[in-house]
Amino acid sequence: MSYNDKLHTSDDKLEVKILRERVKLLTQAKVSLERDLEYYREEITKLLSPPHIEAVVLDILDNDRYLVKSSSGPNLIVTIADKVDKSKIKPGTIVALNSRGSAIVDILPSYYDTTVKAMVVEEKPKVTFNDIGGLKEQIRELYEIVILPLKNPELFIKMGVEPPKSILLHGPPGTGKTLLARALAGESQVTFIKITASELVNKFIGEGARIVREVFKLAREKAPSILFIDEIDAIGAKRLDLGTSGDREVQRTMLQLLAEIDGFNPLSNVKIIAATNRIDLLDPALLRPGRFDRIIELPLPDKIERVEILRIHTRKVPLGDDVDLEEIASRTEGFSGADIRILVVEAVYSAIRRNSKVVSLEDFNYALKKVMKRKYSRLNQLNSITL
Ligand code: ATP
Repeated sequence: MSYNDKLHTSDDKLEVKILRERVKLLTQAKVSLERDLEYYREEITKLLSPPHIEAVVLDILDNDRYLVKSSSGPNLIVTIADKVDKSKIKPGTIVALNSRGSAIVDILPSYYDTTVKAMVVEEKPKVTFNDIGGLKEQIRELYEIVILPLKNPELFIKMGVEPPKSILLHGPPGTGKTLLARALAGESQVTFIKITASELVNKFIGEGARIVREVFKLAREKAPSILFIDEIDAIGAKRLDLGTSGDREVQRTMLQLLAEIDGFNPLSNVKIIAATNRIDLLDPALLRPGRFDRIIELPLPDKIERVEILRIHTRKVPLGDDVDLEEIASRTEGFSGADIRILVVEAVYSAIRRNSKVVSLEDFNYALKKVMKRKYSRLNQLNSITL
């Protein structure tokens, strides 16, 4: 019997099949182990590699030499690694230096990606005027001074009028200042950039002013855009004296803000909207003509407006037959839009807790008590602080 004949016995055939199967499995295991090996090699290289130093390019000198300011302090003159794209390096570019601090080895993303934590960027927010209860007069005025010039600047050029470039919204907390600014961006389909001024204080020297510069730069890059500065009183409050270095630093941030606003063309496609709950605290320098010279008040909503706000926030809520929104609105005197939103959320939670599929009057009664208690205990606390 020849070898081939032997192989063709059924036992041999089975053995070959099993061996082929094993080869297949082992080949798969080999590929997966090689992948693991590669991963761990890379991890070891990362863990063993020395840290890089962050630096900002100050100037480009000759012969591939650069003047940089390292994050650890001193200005250094450094060279550049071959692999780095020199055409992308300009004064202001953030780079990584090798651990000895002698050469640029990488280009880092721009600062506002990493350090402007105080900032929110929303491309074309989905919010519209339909999401706002009341504030009809404010919406009409803002339509004319924000949306029209953003959409049709030529109309204003032809007529020879300059729309205000910056607007101040003021009113008690939760009256919809942020909501309105977002809706303006949503209605005009532009980018909404929000910065909270209180986040700019207590920074390192020069940091607040630098962030202001970066944010305005970003607003220009993302134009058409609306730049919303919330809690502007945090940097724009009148100062009686500039005793401490912290005060001087806040003043520097505010001066940078004024310089940025002054440098803006009213017909540029960036609109600046600021908001405050404490207009009485603001430095008059901020309110001069050409700066925040258009002031719009957002007061607490009246009863009709509270009904509208309740309707907006209960659009998707299944309400019981016993719920009369007008009656609830009449029991919410002194509530802001934000309070009304919380009231609806609390009522929904109460219904969920009761395992009910509809939100009934009982849930609103419970929610009203809860929100009022919270609201008035907060007010009492505030009063005791100011007394
Ligand atoms: P703050 O001064 O505390 O920053 P604000 O005036 O900016 O407050 P918003 O943050 O806009 O107030 O309001 C908070 C939330 O309250 C909004 O997201 C919205 O859900 C609700 N709200 C406030 N006002 C209205 C309104 N007029 N219509 C509908 N919802 C409102």
